[in-house]
Amino acid sequence: MYAEDTIVAPATPPGKGAVAIVRLSGARAIQIAATLWHPLSKAALRPRHLGLGEIRDPQTGTIVDRAMCVTMPGPASLTGEDVVELHCHGGPYIVRRVLSLAMAAGARMAEPGEFSRRAFLNGRIDLTEAEAVADLIDVRSESALQQAIGQLNGALARRVEQLRSGVIAIRAHLEAEIDFADEGLKLPGRDEIAADIARLADDVALLHDSFRRGRLARDGARAAIVGKPNAGKSSVLNLLLGTDRAIVTAVPGTTRDVIEESVTLGPWPLVLQDTAGVREAGDEVERIGIGRTLSSVAEADLLIAVFDSSRPFEDDDARVLALCQGRAGLALLNKSDLRPPVLSPADLLDRGLGMPIMRFSALDADGAPALRDELGRAIEALAAAGPDDGVAISRERHREALAKALEALARARASALKGMPPEIVAVDAAAAAEALGTLTGEVGTEDVLDAVFREFCIGK
Ligand code: GDP
Repeated sequence: MYAEDTIVAPATPPGKGAVAIVRLSGARAIQIAATLWHPLSKAALRPRHLGLGEIRDPQTGTIVDRAMCVTMPGPASLTGEDVVELHCHGGPYIVRRVLSLAMAAGARMAEPGEFSRRAFLNGRIDLTEAEAVADLIDVRSESALQQAIGQLNGALARRVEQLRSGVIAIRAHLEAEIDFADEGLKLPGRDEIAADIARLADDVALLHDSFRRGRLARDGARAAIVGKPNAGKSSVLNLLLGTDRAIVTAVPGTTRDVIEESVTLGPWPLVLQDTAGVREAGDEVERIGIGRTLSSVAEADLLIAVFDSSRPFEDDDARVLALCQGRAGLALLNKSDLRPPVLSPADLLDRGLGMPIMRFSALDADGAPALRDELGRAIEALAAAGPDDGVAISRERHREALAKALEALARARASALKGMPPEIVAVDAAAAAEALGTLTGEVGTEDVLDAVFREFCIGK
């Protein structure tokens, strides 16, 4: 990847549409575009204004498209370089033709995420803002949208920068102590420095602990549907989805693998996992299915435990009950349309179930809104569990960087309290500042950049 290359890529998805945009960025973008696109009037050439013109094959003079063009000279552009967008008619053949003309004129096809990477390298956006662009395009719910917009506007970057300046101020005190130790300067004492570090660590911890809330908003909660075979798990999933996605049969043990589907409940996305029944495994296939059930349960934020109210409490129900211990979620006493009920809420409460219990019938679609409301409330309770000061992290990369910063701050504080030389405390303070810097990309390695920009598609 060479920053001096001029790159080109479609900025719109493949397929037919009203408009397809081909984007160029780099030192030769304007020059290359000028060999292909010819304005139909002088006014069409004004920078940052769309102008109408024709795209012609420079070799033959053949008209390839009538298209709009806008030039955005750097550094105040998307990438910080000269950028040109050709707004063509939205047909795949036209796009291919325009791309090959641009490449024949000296542009190179962009790598995935290369426009954003250049924007980052040229200081137009920081890493968290680049990630927000990727998130914004993947958004499937209002909570994810608001999370991505906040991050795109730099809310997370500003918070991280604030924390980093706090660490840098502490380092400055320590450096002063190292440099002016003999000059009788009035410097903060060790206890004071340790207290400053502790306050800062609390703020870092607050951001670190926002991960759950941020992840819930971005990716949604994960709910695993558990229950003994034939309790009605697949029927509950289908009712929530409003389709027949999971196979419903009267033979116990049909769902041998984990089926995953997404729904939105109000602003929240929810990923539902229909698991193989919880029961003593009969054969190898079933054993594997049950193993997957257990890992799906372990990873879930919520459990939807389905019990068959038309049958007595059995060993398999006891297994389900054990899985529910200490977990957030909801228990459904399913098949409540079958009379008389054999299993009651009291039977589950007496055995120590700590979740809200709902009488339910998966065959009656009228029960779906109440179930959705109850699940929405459970997600809200999860999201509200941590402190909320308006900014949240949503990626494992962010969480790891903050965890590293916290560890370094804990070491720095311990050294300060022990009265270690300022050099020692300063080393850990520097490590904390560096960990925070990796979050925004202030401190960065190629590996971090590769990992962040890998998830982008070509043209972004
Ligand atoms: P799973 O093995 O737990 O996924 O159970 P299924 O969803 O496949 O359902 C097993 C059987 O119970 C099917 O024949 C369903 O039609 C039936 N069933 C599921 N929920 C209800 C319910 O609320 N009432 C009645 N009467 N039957 C149900």
